[in-house]
Amino acid sequence: MQVLETPRHDRYGTVVAGAGPAGILAALHAATSGRVLLVDSSGLPRDKSCGGMLHHHTVRTLERYDRIPPGIVLDPRTVHFRYNDWDRRITKTTTLEFLNVSRAGFDEWLTTLLPDTVDVVAPCELRDFRQSPSGVDITLKTRDGDVAVSSDVLVGADGARSQVRRVLEVPSTATYVTLQDFCTVQESVAPVFDCIYMRDIGDQYAYSYVVPKGPTAIVGSVYYPKTKHPWEKQDLTLDILRERMPGLGPSVKREAAAALYLRSPDDVVCGRGRVLLAGEAGGFMSPTSGEGISYAVNTGRLAGEAIGAGDAAGALSRYAAAVEPVRRNIARKFRWLPFMESRAGKYVAGFMPEKLVSKVTEGL
Ligand SMILES: Cc1cc2nc3c(=O)[nH]c(=O)nc-3n(C[C@H](O)[C@H](O)[C@H](O)COP(=O)(O)OP(=O)(O)OC[C@H]3O[C@@H](n4cnc5c(N)ncnc54)[C@H](O)[C@@H]3O)c2cc1C
Repeated sequence: MQVLETPRHDRYGTVVAGAGPAGILAALHAATSGRVLLVDSSGLPRDKSCGGMLHHHTVRTLERYDRIPPGIVLDPRTVHFRYNDWDRRITKTTTLEFLNVSRAGFDEWLTTLLPDTVDVVAPCELRDFRQSPSGVDITLKTRDGDVAVSSDVLVGADGARSQVRRVLEVPSTATYVTLQDFCTVQESVAPVFDCIYMRDIGDQYAYSYVVPKGPTAIVGSVYYPKTKHPWEKQDLTLDILRERMPGLGPSVKREAAAALYLRSPDDVVCGRGRVLLAGEAGGFMSPTSGEGISYAVNTGRLAGEAIGAGDAAGALSRYAAAVEPVRRNIARKFRWLPFMESRAGKYVAGFMPEKLVSKVTEGL
């Protein structure tokens, strides 16, 4: 894939904002019906903060395109989700399994699936757009300054803080504050995806996760929106975790990011007019587990297929019909959220047999 500095044309069939999994799958499928421009505000290949755990839905969907290259899979190859109530020293290992990959390697591999007919421009930020009866007029910011392009359809796949969603005046979703430390592994860390709930960090803390990644282990923590002093809280979290996980050595890198904080099924919006929202931009992710890659891959694919299947004016209604099962899946997960976030819910989980915890987590 060649990354361009500026668009080659001033009119495209489809413009896609965001070269994450949603944007790449949308561009790939939309390219069956015309010229596509894919832009990303960051440089490519990008380096997105992520746990890099691929759900089996993601793996299965992507197998249709190509085999996930073994070189991006880390040690241990797969990890099982393990629930930890830290305060009561309760641990439950589940049957829910993830493929353990390098997220940077995964994202770079996804770009290799794009056909040459997709023009990729980065860094290039979508700043604004206006819809008219004949299409969408878009303003992009490139290294050389602002550039105007137009398209029949625009796909907003620009993530948790979507500018496309903002311009459409769809209410923005709040975001969790996430921090990830890459800690060296001294001797060993359990070969599982540990998810840890504890009270010591205070009410702004949601949970932490520890996942081994070859010679390092990611220690990620999720804090509620507007958390004050998250870096200090993460220092404290690391100190507490190290007491019972002596394999966690010094942190060699720390990164901060934003993750969607979904509160209601109304946060899920598939677009307006000739603008389709896919992946996190549309609110598509699991509100209960934070797993988002399978939703991004799936809704990006459905958006691209809807564009490829007929006239541009009808793309949104085709997409809305196609994503309905995804929307229902997310709505069902919302029913679990109050239980999961409550102290009573965590208390009850401690008494559930592992088999039942497995069954519940498979559905989250
Ligand atoms: C710390 C953390 C850990 C996570 N761990 C996991 C995990 O282990 N497994 C899992 O399944 N999910 C995980 N997720 C969620 C997952 O990363 C996302 O759900 C997924 O990447 C969403 O894909 P997307 O294509 O919708 O958006 P993104 O991957 O966020 O891509 C959006 C792209 O849009 C670009 N962009 C933004 N604004 C503009 C603009 N104005 N113009 C042009 N481009 C723009 C950005 O640069 C970015 O490249 C994690 C998230 C976080 C924050």
